[in-house]
Amino acid sequence: MIQRTPVRIEARNTSHLPEHGTCTAENQSWQTILSQSLSNPEQLLERLNLPAERWLEGAKSGHKLFQIRVPEPFIRRMEPGNPNDPLLRQVLPIADETVEQPGFVRDPLEENTAIQTTGLIRKYHSRALLMVTGQCAINCRYCFRRHFPYGEHKLSRDDRHQIVTALNASPEINEVILSGGDPLAVNDRLLSQWVDLLDAVPHLKRLRIHSRLPVVIPQRVCDDMLSWLDRTRLQKVLVVHVNHPAEIDQATREAFARLKQAGVTLLNQSVILKGVNDNADTLSALSEALFDAGVMPYYLHAFDPVAGAHHFDVSDAAAALLVRQMLERLPGFLVPKLVREVPGETSKTPIPVN
Ligand code: SF4
Repeated sequence: MIQRTPVRIEARNTSHLPEHGTCTAENQSWQTILSQSLSNPEQLLERLNLPAERWLEGAKSGHKLFQIRVPEPFIRRMEPGNPNDPLLRQVLPIADETVEQPGFVRDPLEENTAIQTTGLIRKYHSRALLMVTGQCAINCRYCFRRHFPYGEHKLSRDDRHQIVTALNASPEINEVILSGGDPLAVNDRLLSQWVDLLDAVPHLKRLRIHSRLPVVIPQRVCDDMLSWLDRTRLQKVLVVHVNHPAEIDQATREAFARLKQAGVTLLNQSVILKGVNDNADTLSALSEALFDAGVMPYYLHAFDPVAGAHHFDVSDAAAALLVRQMLERLPGFLVPKLVREVPGETSKTPIPVN
């Protein structure tokens, strides 16, 4: 079974605390929600009134390969009794995950060959990927890193020193991307320390954060987080990850608004997924909902052929047709770029849509 670093934060009774706002030591509401994420397929089926006799066996077999994890705010946006709910499909393990398919591999982007030093991945000329944690708030069944050896990438003090040394020695890098796992699963004290270290690297201009947390647990956008975002001299970009318009609710919109107020540029990347968002109506509604919430649609990623997730695959030709349909319905700025990541390439590879 692939197991990400367990969340070690103890659950506390926070029923007296507000849903949003501060996250000081006395008020760790997002951390409590994270620690209480559902991690058992039986509980998820029960919670959504889905018959165990139909779904449990497959869910358990997929869960053995890559454990289930879903936080409560995301579950609340699902439709009870609907096994085809597009949010549920992203997180519910199924028996298909155990079927091996030619061409679907454990490391489809060959990231293991791009590791510069523990925790630092170099794929592109001016950017470096800093993997601050292997923990995610949600385990997405289609994740191209579902087999990534996160256990080998726990960062010690010495690793941090090596990373900063590597960045200082690479003046061509002007942007660091905090990734993971989900970098916002890390506590704000540690993130604040990282930001101080990065601020001190003179040639860095931008801090980019790739995170699904503001979507799946909007309470994550709390005062402590805004405080280190506010303090850094770096330009701030947060790339969220929303695949379906039903993922955006009022709490998510409020979290995005707080980030915008803090001067963060908000972009979205989606993955095109069979049975979740592979139709022009859904993708167009997603672009509209994102823009209404202050987020620019940025990338629509072709599915990466990761082992255990072949049932989500959509062909490039079908994806290109969907983007052509979006172009007919939306202003150009609401149509994300259709791209694929090809191992060894010096940038994302655009997929022609005409
Ligand atoms: S949040 Fe991102 S990194 Fe984590 S499982 Fe989902 S897609 Fe993968």
